[in-house]
Amino acid sequence: MKSRLIICHHCSERNCVRRHGKARSGLQRYFCSNCKRTFQINYIYQGHEGKILRQVESMYDEGKTRAEICRNLGVNPVVVDRYLYLISMESDAY
Ligand SMILES: [Zn+2]
Repeated sequence: MKSRLIICHHCSERNCVRRHGKARSGLQRYFCSNCKRTFQINYIYQGHEGKILRQVESMYDEGKTRAEICRNLGVNPVVVDRYLYLISMESDAY
């Protein structure tokens, strides 16, 4: 099975990273055997969902409210909440 090469967020090592279960948020966690640290990758950042997430993120940055984001994107508040949560998780990781 061929999998995408994951780069460690901490040391940028490519070949020492393996899957390390899932976080409660549903994000895939990874463990780097080079620097012995774990990190998460948001797998929804690809494709269609990733596009929506970026839209949510930019609207949120513009100061739009959750309700406005829901209306603009035609998604329900639960979805927006999930994206906002993922965005906050991602910014914590850096
Ligand atoms: Zn590492």
